[in-house]
Amino acid sequence: MSVSQEQKISSTSTLKDDQTPQKRQFQIQNLLKRKDFKSVVRILQTDKKSRTNYQKLKYQNQEYHVGQNLCIRGDNGSEYVAKLIKVVKLIDNEDNCLPFIKVQWYYRKTELTGLPKDYLECISENEVFKTNELDYIEIESIIGLAIILSYEEYDKIEELNENVYFMRATYFDQKLFPSFEQWNKVCLCRKPPNPDLKYVFCEICQKWFHLKCVGLSQDQASKLKKYICPDCKN
Ligand SMILES: [Zn+2]
Ligand SMILES: [Zn+2]
Repeated sequence: MSVSQEQKISSTSTLKDDQTPQKRQFQIQNLLKRKDFKSVVRILQTDKKSRTNYQKLKYQNQEYHVGQNLCIRGDNGSEYVAKLIKVVKLIDNEDNCLPFIKVQWYYRKTELTGLPKDYLECISENEVFKTNELDYIEIESIIGLAIILSYEEYDKIEELNENVYFMRATYFDQKLFPSFEQWNKVCLCRKPPNPDLKYVFCEICQKWFHLKCVGLSQDQASKLKKYICPDCKN
């Protein structure tokens, strides 16, 4: 949603705002219960005491800045990734402080279930896809900072850290960009590499091959001192 759309909505809700303070407070309580934070922000952001332009926030001794990427805990216990877009502090009619963050979601493999199975086979558990989906969420759902690398950077790191992800495509309006067909491909099967799978590296052409595709077991591969792929052998 663009800024101008957002302003349009908030001005219409102000126009309709002929409720008593009690009625409005009741409405806000209900929206909070339903976790409809977007509507709470829309109603309260025009309040004189509310502030929507913070550049950073502190939560559990960690400072987070607008523009940084975060690991987010979902209601179902799973972990999501999002960019911090905005920090807002709303004040309701009873002077309660309601802090929220606006985030832009990155999708993970588990959220891309609509993609074909052969695409999903090439997508890593640690891969993310930036979307154009925005939400307001509670500050308490922040787990910590997330690091998002390019595929090339991720491929080079030797020690895998829990909050390190990589991104090689975006997913705006449910479309991959660059498209799956345009991703770099490896192996005899010409599929995009998935760092979660086991590969063997050819000393001659300096390319990666699935163990499965070149007929090696994990045990055989670990005993190899040097590997030469079928293409380079011929
Ligand atoms: Zn292969
Ligand atoms: Zn080779």
